[in-house]
Amino acid sequence: MRKSKAPQVTTLSKRETERVGAPVEVRRHPAARRLTLRVSRTRRAVIVTLPVQCGIEEAGLFLNRNIEWVRERLDSLPEPMPFRGGMLIPLRGIAHRVVMPGEIPRRRAVRRVDAFPFPELHAPGELVSAIKRLEQWFAREARTDLEQRVAWHAARLDVKPGRLTIRDQTSRWGSCSTTGALSFSWRLVLAPPAILDYVAAHEVAHLREMNHGARFWTLVRKTCPAMDEAKRWLRIYGMDLHRYGGEGGT
Ligand SMILES: [Zn+2]
Repeated sequence: MRKSKAPQVTTLSKRETERVGAPVEVRRHPAARRLTLRVSRTRRAVIVTLPVQCGIEEAGLFLNRNIEWVRERLDSLPEPMPFRGGMLIPLRGIAHRVVMPGEIPRRRAVRRVDAFPFPELHAPGELVSAIKRLEQWFAREARTDLEQRVAWHAARLDVKPGRLTIRDQTSRWGSCSTTGALSFSWRLVLAPPAILDYVAAHEVAHLREMNHGARFWTLVRKTCPAMDEAKRWLRIYGMDLHRYGGEGGT
């Protein structure tokens, strides 16, 4: 039996999704006192939260009353950029062109090829496996960079980080658990290296200070003097990194 206070999540029908222009999630939450509505920028989804005693049809009615607001919010989000041949995607802040030759690959790995005007990322295989290979490749590149930067900052701050995990987390760029395990978004490898470096420094500093107090920021600044610029960059352009990847569409 479920005793947790977690919300019950229902996804509205495909017809509803098409009408709204984004997936609609209805969450029945024990702690919710009234109906609320929000648009998740990173997931490009509409989330309706309703108190447990409300019927699901109330979520639909509530959505209808606020449909203009929802559409406006969705329109203001950057266009998603699913992995496709011909698309441009930044790698370490530099635009690369994705090439999907579509052949059954003799060479299975994704390759980076110097080319003009854009360096290229060659992802072999038919679409679904090419997309998968590309995702895994980005995650590996992110891991390589993050392992290096984490080790560097850990040596400077005299701490021993635990396991490093690469994820596609939508709410945070990185996190640090009480056991010292660090976790990062693969999307950081899309940003200029100074941004990934700041997030690595930030999480490593949490190994000494598990809070965002003055002492914490002094540590971050000590090991990453350009932290203010990096924070500003993430505020302005960070959202853009969430557009890329996945299969997109149907
Ligand atoms: Zn933090």
